[in-house]
Amino acid sequence: MNTITLPHLNTCPPAAFVAALQGVYEHSPWIAERAAAMRPFASVAALKQALQAVVMTSSKEEQLTLLRAHPELAGKAAIAGALTVESTGEQAASGLDRCSLDEYARLQELNTRYGEKFGFPFILAVKGPTGRGLTRAAIIATFARRLENSLDAEMAECLRQVHRIAEIRLNVLLAVELRFGPQVMDWAETLGAISDSVDDLTCAYMTPAHTRTAMQLADWMRAAGMIVHIDAVGNVVGRYAAAQPEAHVLMTGSHYDTVRNGGKYDGRLGILLPIALAAHLNERGERLPFHLDVVGFAEEEGVRFRSTFLGSSAITGRFDAALLEQRDGDGVTMRDALLGAGHDPLMIPAIARDPASLLGFVEVHIEQGPVLLERGLPVGVVTAIAGSSRYLVDLSGVASHAGTTPMDMRRDAAAAAAEIVLLVEGRCGGRGSLVGTVGQLEVPSGSVNVIPGRCRLSLDIRAAVDAERLAAVDDILAGITAICARRGIGQQLWKLVEADAAPCSPRLMDTLGAAIEDTGLPRFDLLSGAGHDAMEIARITEVAMLFVRCGNGGISHNPLETMTADDAEVAGEVLLGFLRRIQAYA
Ligand SMILES: [Zn+2]
Repeated sequence: MNTITLPHLNTCPPAAFVAALQGVYEHSPWIAERAAAMRPFASVAALKQALQAVVMTSSKEEQLTLLRAHPELAGKAAIAGALTVESTGEQAASGLDRCSLDEYARLQELNTRYGEKFGFPFILAVKGPTGRGLTRAAIIATFARRLENSLDAEMAECLRQVHRIAEIRLNVLLAVELRFGPQVMDWAETLGAISDSVDDLTCAYMTPAHTRTAMQLADWMRAAGMIVHIDAVGNVVGRYAAAQPEAHVLMTGSHYDTVRNGGKYDGRLGILLPIALAAHLNERGERLPFHLDVVGFAEEEGVRFRSTFLGSSAITGRFDAALLEQRDGDGVTMRDALLGAGHDPLMIPAIARDPASLLGFVEVHIEQGPVLLERGLPVGVVTAIAGSSRYLVDLSGVASHAGTTPMDMRRDAAAAAAEIVLLVEGRCGGRGSLVGTVGQLEVPSGSVNVIPGRCRLSLDIRAAVDAERLAAVDDILAGITAICARRGIGQQLWKLVEADAAPCSPRLMDTLGAAIEDTGLPRFDLLSGAGHDAMEIARITEVAMLFVRCGNGGISHNPLETMTADDAEVAGEVLLGFLRRIQAYA
C-alpha cells in the first residue's frame, strides 16, 4: 500500500493536498482547501490541529453542513450501501452491520428522536478512544445519553467526534504508529478491571484490589527495566537508573487509588505513561543523566480513611502518624489495614526524601474538566494548583408549623441557607480563578409541612492566589453572620480544610511548554482547580504538571471518564521531550 507522507502533503500542489485528504472530513473538501494555505505543518499533530482550526473558525452554517454530510449510524444509507468507503468500514468494524433486530429497531428509534431534536445526524467516532472500536452496547448507551444534551452542547460534541473520526482516518492515511498511547490505554484497561466492587471501579487504600494493583504496576515497571520496591505506605516506586549511582533524581508519578465508582485514567495515566517511556528508553539503551523515579502514590482520594495524600505526604516526610489510629467505615484502623497488607507502619518515616537529592517533580494527569476539550487541545501546562478553604456551616432557626406561622414571624434556617448559596455565587463569580461552591445542603429530618429549624451546608472556595481566596472567605463569613443576624438564625462553623495554592515552577513549566511546541502544538497554560499529589510534593521540590484532555465533556470521578490513545501519545512525546530537555539541569 502506498502511503502518503507529511513531507509530500507539505509540498504538493494545493489540489493534490485536497485530493489526498478527501476522505478525512466527510464530503467536505472545503476544510482541506482552507488548511492547504496553512502549510507546511511541523507534525501530523499540527496538521490535525490546523484542520480542526478551520472547522472551529468556520460559520455555524458551514459547521451544520459538515455535520449533515455524515450518515446516520446503521441508518437507511448504511442499509442501502450508500456510505463513503471510510464510513462503511468504520460502521462495520463496530459490528453495526450485524445488529440484532432489537438493536436495529432501537437505533432507528434513537436516530428519529435525535434528528427531530437536533436537526443533524448523531455522530460518534465508533472506533472509540483506542481506535479499535466501541461495542454496539456502548454505542447505543452513548446515543441515549447524548440525546439528553442541549442543542449547543450536542453540536459541539458532534464536531469533536468529527475531529476524532478525522484523526483516526489521518492515522490510517499517513500510517501513523503510536508508540505509547495504545499501551497506556491497554494498561489502564487492565488496572480498571481490578476493583473492590463487581460492577464498577473502586480501588480504596489497602484493600485487596489496591494491593493487586500495586503488584501489577510493579511487574510492568520491572519489565520496563526499572528497579522497583513497594514502600511501607504502599507507594510503588520504580527507578529507571542513571549510569551514575550518585545522580540526582527527577520524580514523576500520580496516584493509583480511585474514588468509588471512579474512572480508569484519573491518577493512573501519570504512572503508566512514564512506565511506557522508561520501557522505550530501556529498549533503546538510552540512559538519562538523572535517576527517573516513577511513583505510583498509594493514596490521594481520601476514600477509606477520609484523609488524603497519604502516599505523597510520606515522601515529603509529613505523614501524620496519628492517622494510623483512624478507622474506616468498618472500624478497621489504618494501622491494621497496613499490617494486614504486609506493611510495617514503623517504616513510614524512612520514606521521606531528602530535598537536596531531587531535581524536581512532574505529574501527568487528566484535566478532569472541559477547558482543553473546548479549546481543542490535547495537552496543557498547569500554572498552579488552586488553594482551597472548606467549611461546614450549621444553621439553627425555629421549626414550626408551615400552615400557622405567619411569614414575618419565621426563623427559617433553609431560607438563610438559600441566601448564603447566592452570596457565595455572587462573591466568587466573574473573578478570575476564584470559585465558590455549596456542594452539600441539607435540612436534617425536614418535613413538607414544617419550617426548617436547622440547615447544614458546606462551603468550598478555591483560587490560584491565596490572598484572593482568603479575602473571599472573609467576605463570605461576614456575609453569613449578617444574614443570620437579620433573620435571627444561630450559626456554627467548622473549618475542614485550608490549603495554600501551589504555584508550579516557571522553569519546569517553560520546559514542558517547549516540549509541547516541539511536537508542533501550541503551548496553553491553565490552572488546576483540583488538588493533586504535586501539591504535596511542592513542599520539598519544584513541581510541574501536564494536563491531558478528557472527553465526554471533561467528566471525571465517574465511569464515563475517557481520553484517547492519540492524546496519551502526545502526552508521552511531551514528557519524553521534557526529560531530554531537563538533562541540561542535571
Ligand atoms: Zn487524580
